[in-house]
Amino acid sequence: MNFGVDTGFYPLGSCTMKYNPKINEEIANMPAFLGLHPLQPETTTQGALAIYVAMDKALAAITGMKHFTFLPCAGAHGELTGLMLMREYHMSRGDTARTKVIVPDSAHGTNPASAAVCGLDIVVVKSKENGLVDVEDLKPLLGPDIAGIMMTNPNTLGLFERDIKEIAELVHACGGLLYYDGANMNPLLGMVRPGDMGFDIMHLNLHKTFSTPHGGGGPGSGPVGVSDKVVPFLHIPRVSGFHGNFGIILRAYAYILMLGRENIKMAGKLATLGANYIKESLKDCYKLPIPTVCKHEFVFDGLLEPNGVSTLDVAKRLLDYGFHAPTIYFPLLFHQAIMIEPTETESLETLDAFIAVMRRIAEEAKADPEMLHAAPHNTPIGRPDETTAARQPILKY
Ligand SMILES: *Cc1c(COP(=O)(O)O)cnc(C)c1O
Repeated sequence: MNFGVDTGFYPLGSCTMKYNPKINEEIANMPAFLGLHPLQPETTTQGALAIYVAMDKALAAITGMKHFTFLPCAGAHGELTGLMLMREYHMSRGDTARTKVIVPDSAHGTNPASAAVCGLDIVVVKSKENGLVDVEDLKPLLGPDIAGIMMTNPNTLGLFERDIKEIAELVHACGGLLYYDGANMNPLLGMVRPGDMGFDIMHLNLHKTFSTPHGGGGPGSGPVGVSDKVVPFLHIPRVSGFHGNFGIILRAYAYILMLGRENIKMAGKLATLGANYIKESLKDCYKLPIPTVCKHEFVFDGLLEPNGVSTLDVAKRLLDYGFHAPTIYFPLLFHQAIMIEPTETESLETLDAFIAVMRRIAEEAKADPEMLHAAPHNTPIGRPDETTAARQPILKY
C-alpha cells in the first residue's frame, strides 16, 4: 500500500518534492561506502572526507556562499545552527543588544521555532496582498535590537521575493544579517544564488533539493553555508559525529555531478513550468488568491462554495482517483489552503490526468457534496483520527 514519488504523482507542496534517481540509491549503497565503520581510524576515511570537501565546493558554487558546515542533520537543525552563528557574529562585535529576529508571516513554522529555541524574540513582518514581504511594514521594525531576518525565497507561497535586494540593503544598513531558509532552493538551482541576493547565512535541505526522498522523518542533512564575514564563526570539525548522515551527502553529490552546471537548471525550470501549467488550467474552478506567475509550487484557497466542500474533502477525494493529496492547510495565510507542487519529472500526461480529476472533483462538489464529505470511498481506510494516528501509530498488523 506504499505510495512513492517515483510510483505515482505526489504533488506535496512546501517540501520541494523532487525526483530521486534510483542510481543515487545504488551509489549510496555501494559496499565501500556502506561498510564505512563509524570508529574507523581517520587515516582510512580520507576518501569520505574528500567527498565532504567536494560537496563544500559544489554547494558554495550553487549558492554563492563561502563555506558550508555539515554538522546539522535537518533543515530546522540548520536554522538553529545558523541563528547561533548569527548570535556569535554579533557577540564577537560586542553588539549584545541584538535579541530580535524578523520572520515573515508566511514563514514555515520551523523559522520562529528555531529562533525561539535560540533564545531570540520573534518579530513578524507582514506580507502584502501579492504574497510578498511588505517592505513598508519592514522598515519601522529595523533597529539596533535586530539580529537579522529569516527569509525563504521563493517563499512558502511559491513566489519569488522580488524586493530581496532592497530588503538586504535595509537589513544590512541596520546592522542585521540575512538568513536564507533554503528548503525551496529547487527552482533556483543554477539560476540565481542566495549569496548574490545578499544573504549571509543559509541552510539547504539535502533531503529535499538534492535527491534524498523527503518524508517519514528519515535521516536528513541540513548543511549551513555562510558568507565571508561569518566564516570565522564556523565550528571545527565541520562534519558531524561518525561521518554524519553520509549516505545523504553521497546522493546529493552524485545528483550534482550527474546533472552538472548547465543541466541542473532544468530541475527548477520544469517544476516551475509544471506548477504554472496546473495553476492556469484549474484557476477557473478553484480560488487562486494570488494570480501571478509562481515558481515550483502555488496555493489555491480550496473551499468549493456554496456547498461547504472543504480542502480536506478535496484532498480525500483525490485518493479515490489514485492521486496522493497535496499539502493542505499550509501556509496559514489562507483558511483552506491547498498547496500543489509537481515534481519536475512529471509528464504532460500525468499533469493532464491530475487536472482532469481536480476539475471532476469541482463538478462533484456542486452535484453531490455529501459524497465528498464522506470521501475517500475506495481506500482501505477512510478518515482515521489523524491525531491518534500520528501520536500512536500502529505500523504492523
Ligand atoms: C521542510 C522545511 C523546513 C524544515 O526542514 P526539516 O528538514 O524538515 O527540518 C524549513 N523551512 C521550509 C520552508 C521547509 O519547507
